Amino acid sequence: MSEDSLKESLDIIVISENHNYLDAAEEIIGNQSRKYKLNLNTASKVELLRAFENNGRDKFKSDIILFDLTDRVDSEYQMGLLNRYMSRNQNVFAIASVLPSEHEKLIYNSLWQNMQRDLEGTPLSLTNCYRILEKETNLKNLKIHFGCINMEQLKDNVLECIDKLKRGDITYVHEIAQMPSEFKQFSERVQKETKSRIVLSSISKMRTMDVNKIKGVVENLQPKYHYSVPQHCFPPFEKLDNFNPEQVQESITPLITDVDKLIQSIYIHIPFCLHKCAFCDYTTVEGTLNSSSEYINRLKKEMQMYYDLTEWEVLTPKGIQIGGGTPTMLAADRVKELGEFIHDFYDLNMLSQLTFEASPNTATAKKLDAFRDIGATRVSVGLQSVKDDALLHWIKRWFSPTRMQKTINMLLQRWPCDTNIDIMFGLPNQTLDSWEKDLEAVVDMRIPSVTTYYLRISPRTGFADYKDLPHQEIKILMYTMAREKLMGEGYVQIANNQFVKNPDMQKYIYRDMKKRGGGVLGIGMSSYSIFPGLIYFNIGAKDNRDYKNLHAYMNAVESGRLPIEIGKKLDKHEQKILYMTQGLKLSAPEREYSGVNMADFEKRFEKSIQESFPHTKTLMENGLLEINKGYINLTPSGLAMEDPVLKTFWQGEDV
Ligand code: SF4
Repeated sequence: MSEDSLKESLDIIVISENHNYLDAAEEIIGNQSRKYKLNLNTASKVELLRAFENNGRDKFKSDIILFDLTDRVDSEYQMGLLNRYMSRNQNVFAIASVLPSEHEKLIYNSLWQNMQRDLEGTPLSLTNCYRILEKETNLKNLKIHFGCINMEQLKDNVLECIDKLKRGDITYVHEIAQMPSEFKQFSERVQKETKSRIVLSSISKMRTMDVNKIKGVVENLQPKYHYSVPQHCFPPFEKLDNFNPEQVQESITPLITDVDKLIQSIYIHIPFCLHKCAFCDYTTVEGTLNSSSEYINRLKKEMQMYYDLTEWEVLTPKGIQIGGGTPTMLAADRVKELGEFIHDFYDLNMLSQLTFEASPNTATAKKLDAFRDIGATRVSVGLQSVKDDALLHWIKRWFSPTRMQKTINMLLQRWPCDTNIDIMFGLPNQTLDSWEKDLEAVVDMRIPSVTTYYLRISPRTGFADYKDLPHQEIKILMYTMAREKLMGEGYVQIANNQFVKNPDMQKYIYRDMKKRGGGVLGIGMSSYSIFPGLIYFNIGAKDNRDYKNLHAYMNAVESGRLPIEIGKKLDKHEQKILYMTQGLKLSAPEREYSGVNMADFEKRFEKSIQESFPHTKTLMENGLLEINKGYINLTPSGLAMEDPVLKTFWQGEDV
């Protein structure tokens, strides 16, 4: 195809708010070409791309998009959206203009990588565009990269979009996630728009649930007290007492002196992360790797303090969890130091599982070998999405598909039976389609254990003020899709959100013991400890955004004080709530002996579950709870509405 014929046949959209850029582009495109200039600010650009995407592949399609990202506003997010548009519209060129200072942010964007790779094969006409733009624009440091994706089938239907834009009668069809919350309308609309077997069968499952009725029942049962900081776990922070740092030792020591036999697990918090993910509510510190060696020293000191203050014998945990943060931020030598701490301070003869958390950005073969050498038997990696690049950028998880696959391979080589991945649903901008692709991908990758989390909005995260969130029905549908897909592919559900290939081999011992009331001792910044009748958090739990936390924790330990910040002595009723709400998270409706053992509850609290929580009768009548061989479980409907159902157990908190 010659340069001239290209110019005559192309539909081109230029998206920029910079007049120099728009004028230069006009000159390049020439009079013969059908073109449309869009003078849009960042917010409108984002809207436009979303509109393109939502209106499907045939309606709004250009041959070339000249996309100006030199406004410096959230370029990684804009690039993510462009990537998403491109991935659904294969026959289109994108030319993105990006300032060099922004390049670093884009290194994990796969479209950006392709653009760099395809630069050499760029057709002459586009190279000319580059030269002229470079010459004509007054922008300093303007750098343009080209992408070319399949020149064969250029189509000329962008005018439809342009006409509509001109007439102003584009109604932006919002993401499927913004559909009306009334379930009947919602499901009819989804049914019309989808051909997916999983979506259709999940919708018909939801129809049997009568979501609206159940929502009403659950709302009525919830306590009327509203906590100013919404939290899904009991007890909420507002119910905890601030400990006076000077008096922590005196108040805690009598409470914990005789609990050493009850401690079944140890939790060790490694707070370092490359950067803060948009949804993350954990207490983390970006970077600060220089302090990691000092930090491990403080972990040792903190543990030694417990031994000095009490008459505890050397603890013999059955489960150890190294969580975070990102434990794979630690260099291999630091992992070795961490291992020495664990081996020196605990008797590991009874240890069944040592699990750690990893992230694709920081896991290297050397570090993973170090974790294996210190005795790690299970690993969990937070991917959140496998296929949706734009979504990953949106939630600020910057890694490429190649990097992700490499990490998975390295983990499966070392822990073939005990590798878990976390994926998320209910995220803004996530579609049913992209969620289904993620589920398909984890099945294809033969991951032995998959944990599905849904987005919980915490006021302490980047999504705190975000209004455009998926409705509850979307979350229910996505959860139902996960069950349908994974269980249809032979996975077995072993807890509210975990699906495994082989339940005898892929156990999560630390989690199971904790949720069945086993004592946990937390070590490290913001970690929490639970013993029967007592819960407390270390410094850093209250404000996960306060970067002074790390120093406050380190200083407290250095000065010989237990670094405890908030906590509560739980009365009998509060202990029951905690036991029920934690135990029900182990519900797996198709399995026997999951959920809460009713006889154990009665033995522990000298009252039955039904006597303690009479509303369980209503939950059972409405198909949210069921009893199976002496265990009480959330049903599939109860699991799909887990948080609101569990909140009904916070009874007594409003009086
Ligand atoms: S989600 Fe994980 S990697 Fe992201 S900030 Fe939180 S702890 Fe760090």
